[in-house]
Amino acid sequence: MTIGDRFDQTVARYPDGDALIVRHQNIRWSWSDLRVRVDAVAAGLLQRGLKPGDRVGIWAPNCAEWVIVQFATAKAGLILVNINPAYRVAELDYALNKVGCAALILAPAHKSSDYVAMLGEIAPELKTATPGALQAARLPDLRLVVVLGDDAHAGCLPFAALASDDVGVLADIAIEPGMPVNIQFTSGTTGFPKGATLSHRNILNNGAFVGARIGLSAADRLCIPVPLYHCFGMVMGNLACAVHGATMVYPSEAFDPGAVLEAVEAERCTALYGVPTMFIAALGHPDFARFDLSSLRTGIMAGSPCPMAVMREVIDRMHMDQVTIAYGMTETSPVSFQSATDDPLALRVSTVGRVQPHLEVKLIDLAGDVVARGETGELCTRGYSVMLGYWDDAERTADAIDADGWMHTGDLAVIDEAGYGQIVGRIKDLVIRGGENIYPREVEEFLLTHPGIADVQGVGIPDERYGEELCVWIIVRPGAALTETDVRAHCQGRIAHYKIPRHIRFVEEFPMTVTGKVQKFAMREQMVKELA
Ligand code: ATP
Ligand code: MG
Repeated sequence: MTIGDRFDQTVARYPDGDALIVRHQNIRWSWSDLRVRVDAVAAGLLQRGLKPGDRVGIWAPNCAEWVIVQFATAKAGLILVNINPAYRVAELDYALNKVGCAALILAPAHKSSDYVAMLGEIAPELKTATPGALQAARLPDLRLVVVLGDDAHAGCLPFAALASDDVGVLADIAIEPGMPVNIQFTSGTTGFPKGATLSHRNILNNGAFVGARIGLSAADRLCIPVPLYHCFGMVMGNLACAVHGATMVYPSEAFDPGAVLEAVEAERCTALYGVPTMFIAALGHPDFARFDLSSLRTGIMAGSPCPMAVMREVIDRMHMDQVTIAYGMTETSPVSFQSATDDPLALRVSTVGRVQPHLEVKLIDLAGDVVARGETGELCTRGYSVMLGYWDDAERTADAIDADGWMHTGDLAVIDEAGYGQIVGRIKDLVIRGGENIYPREVEEFLLTHPGIADVQGVGIPDERYGEELCVWIIVRPGAALTETDVRAHCQGRIAHYKIPRHIRFVEEFPMTVTGKVQKFAMREQMVKELA
């Protein structure tokens, strides 16, 4: 089955059910309202000369048009390319050229950045082009530029003008489940983002299984504060809702903890998504106690290590009794492990649950041999969810997916006898100090139990004597006073001496990706400079 077929089934089943609520745009659409817009834009894209298989970029923060374009491109047989709203000229140039976008849909401005002007720097021809017939020397594939919003921009088609009544053309498009539908760039947590090519089969099934594990149904209203440009928003959020008939609720353009709390209360949301830093920000909001969050039932925390202390707070203070943890990566559509709402509480807060249906996993050592149950190894995944490959990058693809179809995740994990997994950390983040392995995550979890510590991240720093030393950055809770000596005293006798951080810094924030992940490589770079 294709994404378009499944979308139409849901429309037929719940024509008047709420599909989409976008609070910052004051939009409320039923599934039939959404379908009319999706079909009109799908037909419009084809009428503008786009052919199945062409790439359509979207460069915009969360908004209703994003959802329309997501389903319209899928129905038209086009490949949607998610472009990070934080990108600037050089990164945009790279992304558009890497995948050869034939069309680009963009928000005119976001967070004081002028997107049209940035595009104009790469394609000065835009100013004098006829909309839909751009010829730019540096972007030879790009013909059509569509702008969201009401203002006119030279050379660009307004989004409203993209719609076409001629939806009959959609019937002639033959789409197979194995065809690519999406190129998603990874978060760029460890360096340069890679473009994962994903098929209808990849992401539609993953959206279905992720929603099933939290019991998503037409009775649910899912609050989605995570970015749509990433699989957490567009697959685990939008696609899961489209499969199960749940309502997508967008609190704001970009993450804002106050807007999340307001949306949950006002829309009586039953489920909430977020990376750990988002939950930490919501729980720490100065007006937290003012909000009625009693409608919440479930949700997903995912994307980076989910500290047990934060999970417990989400259950105790946000009413999310059935909250789950998911683990995945863009390259596997994304989720491969997820807890279920009826898993025992102790396992639900401390593990990533069990493997998703129809997937195989194994843990291997450096030699490639499968490790014994309970031992740590690199997680490998195989099955329907493994990406088709990195777009136009056979070499990187061959490094990631081996000849037997196993995706090597670069993450270390442990799986217990009952099949519950724990993510120990990224291989790249492992700190080797004088021959001893330190998993930063373990020390982070330990330090988070200190009442004065709001958040903490650890990295390995090169050291002449020990090879590497652990360095932690700490965000102190408002009102708490903490010194390096206090932190070390807290560790003394409670964790092995070699795990006690050698370098401690107190900071206001961490370097972050737009998906809310901490860029440890940037912390490392800064520390190396500081200590030089
Ligand atoms: P890049 O590959 O560009 O460096 P990235 O790996 O962060 O960035 P994503 O595909 O968004 O890009 O994230 C996948 C990674 O996120 C996983 O490989 C894993 O390291 C981490 N991750 C996801 N979920 C969890 C989780 N529940 N617990 C621990 N780590 C997680
Ligand atoms: Mg990655």
